[in-house]
Amino acid sequence: MEKPDVIVVGAGLAGAAATLKLSKAGRRVRLIEARSRCGGRAYVKPYGGDGPELEFGGAWITPWHHRLRALVSEHGLTLRPRHPITNRLRLCDVAKSYLDTVAHERAIARVAADAILLKKGITTNERGEALTEISFHDYLDRLQCPAATRAVFSAWWAVSGNGDHRELAASEFLSSCAYGNGLAESMISFWADTVVPGMGILAERMIAASRGEGTEAIFSDPVTHVAQDDQGVAVTTGTATHRAPACVLALGINQLQPIRFTPDLPLGKGKAIALGHGGRSFKLWIRVEGVPVGTLVTGDGSGIEFAFAERPGPNGSTYVVAFGLMNETNQPGDEGWVRTQAARLFPNARVLSYDWHNWVDDPLARGTWVAAFVGHEAGYEAANWQLEGRIAFASSDYAPEQAGWFEGAVIAGEQAAGAVLSTT
Ligand SMILES: Cc1cc2nc3c(=O)[nH]c(=O)nc-3n(C[C@H](O)[C@H](O)[C@H](O)COP(=O)(O)OP(=O)(O)OC[C@H]3O[C@@H](n4cnc5c(N)ncnc54)[C@H](O)[C@@H]3O)c2cc1C
Repeated sequence: MEKPDVIVVGAGLAGAAATLKLSKAGRRVRLIEARSRCGGRAYVKPYGGDGPELEFGGAWITPWHHRLRALVSEHGLTLRPRHPITNRLRLCDVAKSYLDTVAHERAIARVAADAILLKKGITTNERGEALTEISFHDYLDRLQCPAATRAVFSAWWAVSGNGDHRELAASEFLSSCAYGNGLAESMISFWADTVVPGMGILAERMIAASRGEGTEAIFSDPVTHVAQDDQGVAVTTGTATHRAPACVLALGINQLQPIRFTPDLPLGKGKAIALGHGGRSFKLWIRVEGVPVGTLVTGDGSGIEFAFAERPGPNGSTYVVAFGLMNETNQPGDEGWVRTQAARLFPNARVLSYDWHNWVDDPLARGTWVAAFVGHEAGYEAANWQLEGRIAFASSDYAPEQAGWFEGAVIAGEQAAGAVLSTT
């Protein structure tokens, strides 16, 4: 290809959406991706190497993820509804005594009220207590709830705030509760569908469709340096320097950390990138016998904290999707540890095998889904990520809507493409 009109860096959902929109508008796009595949944190692969295709990164879309739903059908894919929850188990008994039951109910109601206030943009509740700028740990302390209640909230945190309790903002948890009716338990109710066979395939198809419009895609070539001046943008990889009048960096906050910029990015973006985000959960698929599909278990605030028997497997087995936090204690890479943890959650089950992808140590992800460090929430706001000269930024991590979700990635990618189209 001659010199492209736009370089897009990153073939995740944001990069795929930007590429598709730019190529449909007649721009010659060169897409550069560090991995050998499309999808980024959307990653479908056969379980254990030869099992069914499962999502090892993101999976769920909500009923209101309309942009994504339209793309799924436009690109010939289908949706699989989540199996309903038919059995709800807890490792810790929340109703040990009458007083505990009352304190439990009070904490549940407090969270629901705070979540709804926050959804309305109110950052202090009627008691004058802050709903932002407070860590999840301090928020739990303030609730003064029984240990069992704390364990249940911690389990829902593993699938929402998904990082260190002391470092991350409680608002991550409250805003996820507010997607439903304010109850933590309502979070799963909006995990409506997954894409068949997987969201990564949607990114692949979007990029294939862009290729039909003249896009060129380069894989397995990480970008290391991005420079811009009055003439254009120069994007350097391990093998070449590519030039174009404009560029979309479709990279998440943590993925921007190793990239050098000339000139330096302004303070707001620079500080946000240096801080990064704190999304650090692990997601495992565990194949078990003796657990009915539809069983949801929450733990005791340690180890694997959340497990949902999501899919039927061969010979009566079940695939359980499980979450917990990456920290010094948990060892999701150790089969013995995973077996012990699974046995705690499902004492009557036989654990057959497990598989996972370590997103935290993956140098091209450096974390899971976006989660704000307490006190720094503004750095993740889309307003901080506007066009910088000839460079537009796009990621679910700082999307203008639905940040942290696939839907946010698509919206951010299309918006960045729109910004480039309006200036070139
Ligand atoms: C375990 C897990 C569970 C999740 N669950 C859900 C869910 O259920 N529902 C949901 O909606 N979302 C979920 N998410 C979040 C969702 O996956 C992400 O928000 C979304 O995929 C991010 O898209 P993106 O395009 O912004 O970034 P990415 O998908 O990370 O794309 C960035 C791309 O840039 C590439 N790249 C990185 N560095 C460079 C470089 N130097 N040069 C070139 N290329 C580079 C990466 O390889 C990647 O392909 C989950 C994420 C994880 C990890």
